[in-house]
Amino acid sequence: MKKYVLAIDQGTTSSCAILFDKKGKPVCLARRGIKTFYPKPGWVEESAKDIWISVLEAITEVLEDSNVNPNEIDSIGITNQRETTVIWDKKTGQPVYNAIIWQSRQSNYLCEQRQSKKDFIFKRTGLLINPYFSASKIRFILDHIPNGQKRAEKGELLFGNIESWLIFKLTEGRVHATDVTNASRTMLLNIKDCKWDKELLKIWNIPMCILPEVHSSSSKFGYATALSCKVNIPICGAIGDQQSALFGQTCFSKGESKNTYGTGCFMLMNIGDKPMLSKNGLLTTVAWKINNKVTYALEASVFMGGATIQWLRDGLQVIKSARDSERYALKVKDTEGVYLVPAFVGLGTPYWDNDVRGAFFGLTRGTNKFHICRAALEGIAYQISDSLKVMQSETRIKLKSLKVDGGASANRFLMQFQSDILGVDVKLPVCVETTALGAAYMSGLSTGFFKDLKTISKNHKYQHIYKPKMKKADVDKKLKGWDTAVKAARTFKI
Ligand code: ADP
Repeated sequence: MKKYVLAIDQGTTSSCAILFDKKGKPVCLARRGIKTFYPKPGWVEESAKDIWISVLEAITEVLEDSNVNPNEIDSIGITNQRETTVIWDKKTGQPVYNAIIWQSRQSNYLCEQRQSKKDFIFKRTGLLINPYFSASKIRFILDHIPNGQKRAEKGELLFGNIESWLIFKLTEGRVHATDVTNASRTMLLNIKDCKWDKELLKIWNIPMCILPEVHSSSSKFGYATALSCKVNIPICGAIGDQQSALFGQTCFSKGESKNTYGTGCFMLMNIGDKPMLSKNGLLTTVAWKINNKVTYALEASVFMGGATIQWLRDGLQVIKSARDSERYALKVKDTEGVYLVPAFVGLGTPYWDNDVRGAFFGLTRGTNKFHICRAALEGIAYQISDSLKVMQSETRIKLKSLKVDGGASANRFLMQFQSDILGVDVKLPVCVETTALGAAYMSGLSTGFFKDLKTISKNHKYQHIYKPKMKKADVDKKLKGWDTAVKAARTFKI
């Protein structure tokens, strides 16, 4: 009897293996940290080999700790840090360069060289030309290893995002495949037909033969023969982390949205089966493909989410732990007019302003650290509100509620304030491992372990639903103050 699906959640800072049961409940979890290198300012890399080892160790540990017989595992679903780029030797399976992490800016110059193509690229991919996506990272690696381009053209090298790399290693080199959500973040996929695009490949001078085969997110990729267990478990799901969280949060209908409050914040809204393009800096991305049916999402990114709270802890040193921020914020009844615009690394959606820097406004002699903490948390919520405003006006869909996850979603003050200024319910699920859960669902749907979306929705329960409580006049006043603060911050240039 199959009782579990094994989800692998390969993130930027750690790799996690989780066993989920039929009710979508996590029964055992193992985690391994990953070392990040910063070889030069703005460069972010990890060892692809270490990523693979960390995944293997996490799987081994979860199998040992849970005492589960591998025979009872239905299948494996993979979710991963997106855009991160690995190139390896097809024969030896050895990486030819470190994995270049999504945050890395080292390939920025390659994007600048292609600025004239930005409209064409946006129309085909739904993405804004930026080193964040894989295409320029691939170009960078091929230019920085001996004979890179020649070896690629001869078919000696393979490219993959982390899910492709893991699938290749788990299947002992038998399968070189990706899923359509990850492929949609490479800047090489035509998001309308979900195929690799020859013209995009030409812009980046990348040979087609290094690219993985594009699969549905929920389909059989191959067998994990590399695991040292007697049965070969099939890999039946793969999906990028943010899309996976959208699915894990059961945002199955058009207009349903989730926000993940991690280091940064990522908001995705299900926009149905048509890839609409934004005029205001939102990205269009493939949410998932199941049974040949593609669902799309609009995506917004806020750079400083929980990282604002890390700054209060490590930079300003006004709190000892991230958790303190809630207690401190609640010690005062409001910020007394103080605003923090946390534009420490510029502002993402909808401003896309790289030059703006962080700023406090409205400080008085009466301002204390409690006001500062409260203003910092409110600053996170205001940024989410700005992005959701744009999403709602572009899609003409009025948000009914916001589903939330990620580290900072544990902050009750932040969640209540978010609900207040959005004027909608903010829903925190019982299972906060929504990213891994999405991958488990993808895999289990493909095998029949999970029957259908309806059954999955029934499993989904909330531990708390925050309801808006603030008076409309107060919300308007606060939002007006925030707008003024953002405008002022953006005019400050030295
Ligand atoms: P990531 O996946 O990006 O590493 P996580 O989802 O693990 O992020 O969340 C970690 C972030 O959440 C950190 O930036 C931390 O400051 C923030 N955080 C964690 N707990 C709280 C809390 N109770 N209140 C506010 N922020 C928090």
